[in-house]
Parts: sequence; structure tokens; C-alpha cells
Amino acid sequence: QGKRALNFNAGPAALPLEVLEQAREEFVDFGGTGMSVMEMSHRSKTYEAIHNETAALVRELLGVPEGYDVLFLQGGASLQFAMVPMNFLPKGKAAGYVLTGSWSEKALKEAQRLGETFVAASTKDGHYRRIPGAEEISFGKDSAYLHVTSNNTIYGTEWASFPDTDPVPLVADMSSDILSRKIDVRQFALIYAGAQKNLGPSGVTLVIVRKDMVERAPEDLPTMLQYRTHAKNNSLYNTPPTFGIYMMGLVLKWVKGQGGVEAVERRNREKAGLIYKVIDDNPDFYLGHAEPTSRSLMNVTFRLPTPELEKEFLDGAKAEGFVGLNGHRSVGGCRASLYNAVPVEHCAALRDYMVEFRKKHA
Ligand code: PMP
Repeated sequence: QGKRALNFNAGPAALPLEVLEQAREEFVDFGGTGMSVMEMSHRSKTYEAIHNETAALVRELLGVPEGYDVLFLQGGASLQFAMVPMNFLPKGKAAGYVLTGSWSEKALKEAQRLGETFVAASTKDGHYRRIPGAEEISFGKDSAYLHVTSNNTIYGTEWASFPDTDPVPLVADMSSDILSRKIDVRQFALIYAGAQKNLGPSGVTLVIVRKDMVERAPEDLPTMLQYRTHAKNNSLYNTPPTFGIYMMGLVLKWVKGQGGVEAVERRNREKAGLIYKVIDDNPDFYLGHAEPTSRSLMNVTFRLPTPELEKEFLDGAKAEGFVGLNGHRSVGGCRASLYNAVPVEHCAALRDYMVEFRKKHA
């Protein structure tokens, strides 16, 4: 067996080794069925049990209350950019978007194709270094919904807490921080997340949506684009991404085994703390992008004083086995993504590399 990489990829990203090993164990013959999960009917009892167990684990670990549907969709978070306004933005109403980075901009762009929108707040002028305060966000009480991106994968900022938008439904793109910390699902009308960071392989999108929102949505949309279709059919209207859902189930069991979301959050704070400490200890060398109160626990973004040093830092890291430390192609710099499955030891190794690199250039 090959050595595991020090994987700091932004997504698709590291999965727990135990999960991969169990998937390997069951790969060719799942539970004595004589076939892989990939080879079985999505209408079989065996698959149905996997499907329902995965949904039940989402409910348990995230504390999803009654009155919400848990859906497994396809099309990534990017399709949700369109499905949310299709289902929830009727004529005569406007939807508010809080712009905190490229993904919220993309979400807004899709909504603009479909209906009336407005920017409820934006931190673009400050290069998306921070999350706006609740008092900076403005929207009418009759808005269709307010959309936020809970963690900004590219800029490395994260909402520490969410605004109370009642009676306006709050919709959140949680693609890059779902299951990484405790949230109160009741604050949200809809949560969506592509799986490929904290939940499993790409190909599944998790949606948690309040049933009354689903029921109010228009019925003349294409069948696959209505949440109603998937809610009514337990995400089995058509063939779901069965292997991805199975993998998500294994990841959720792993999180449960770690002590649940609270335990994982504690570890995530410890992990991010290791890297942010190096940044704080060397403020003239490692230039953190996010303002400290808006820092992400999932994506730590920073620059070095010159492009030459940055290149040397990244080349050196690569030579030592670190993967995925380049910033997003749109912003450059460095980014360490520390999703749930990234072990504390890997973060400590990165911390050590950063400290050593700083010393070499003192
Ligand atoms: N939103 C956020 C916050 C993301 O990080 C990403 C992907 N990196 C997306 C949306 C787009 O997700 P997908 O590729 O699943 O469409």
C-alpha cells in the first residue's frame, strides 16, 4: 500500500482512511450480496437500507428536526444556485444575496436569470476579507429569501453566527463547512452542500429543506428541478448516485464514531489554530487574507511577501509531500483546506514546515 499524501485539497478533498478501507473491504462483495454497491438496483432492499440509513445519519448528526426533508440530488451546489430561485422566487418578490465571495456571486448570477434579486450586503470592496455584521445586511420583510454562503472556500472566511432573518427564509450554501461544526438547522429554510469536501465523493448534493417551502413551490417546473419530486419520492424518483450516497453513509458513521459533530468541531478548531498561530506569530511573513473574526476553520488562506517566496514555499511543500496548498486559480497565494478528514498530525506537519520555512528566510 502506498503512502497517504498530506492532502490539503479544497475539494474533492481528503476522506477518512478508515472509510476508504471499509469501502475497499466491501467493494467487490457488499454484505454477502456477491456484488458491489455500484452494481445493485437502486430499488433493491439492500440499497434502500443504505439510502435510508444515510438520510437518518444526516438527521441525527445535524439535528434535523421534524418538518424538514433530507434530499440527495445531483448537479452539485451549482445546480442549487438555479433550483433555489426556480422553486422559491415567485414573480413580484425579490431575493436578497449576501456577497462574501465568488460562490455567492455565482449564486446571485443564476438567480438574476430567473427573477428579481438584490444585494443585501457585500464585502467585495474589501477584497472579501470579512463577513458582514448583521447590522450591515438590509432586506425587506417581504423578500422571497435571503441567501448566504456559510464558508467561502476561495477567500477563507466563514460566518461565525447567522443573522436572524425571520420572517424571511434563510438559505445557505454550506458546501465547504457542512458537518464541520454545530449549527441550528431551524435557522434555515434550506441548506445545500456538494458532498466533495466534508461528506464524501463528488456526485451527490445534500439538501435539507423545510417541507412548507417545498409545498409552496410552483408545480409547473421541469420534474427533476422541483424539490417536491425528490421529497415525495425519498430521493428515489430516478436513479440516485448510489455509490456516492453509500460513501456518504460511511463518512457519517465515521463522524459519529469520532464523537459526533461537536467532537469534530473541537478538533477542527485545534487544527485551524495550529496554522493561524504561525500566521499570527509571523504577521510580516505569512499574510493572512481573512480578518481574524471572519476566519474560516476549513480553508486557511495566506500570502507570502513576494511571488518568488510564494513559489519557493509551494515548491518546497510539494517536495515534502504536501498536496493542494496552492490558492484558487482566481486569487493565487496559498490555501490549506482542513476539512474533517484531514488529521491533526497533517496540520502539525504543515505548521512545522511553515515555521521552518520562515526560519530559513529570517
Ligand atoms: N459553493 C461553494 C461554497 C463551493 O466551495 C463550491 C465548490 N468548490 C461550489 C459552491 C460549487 O460546487 P459544485 O462544484 O458542487 O457545483
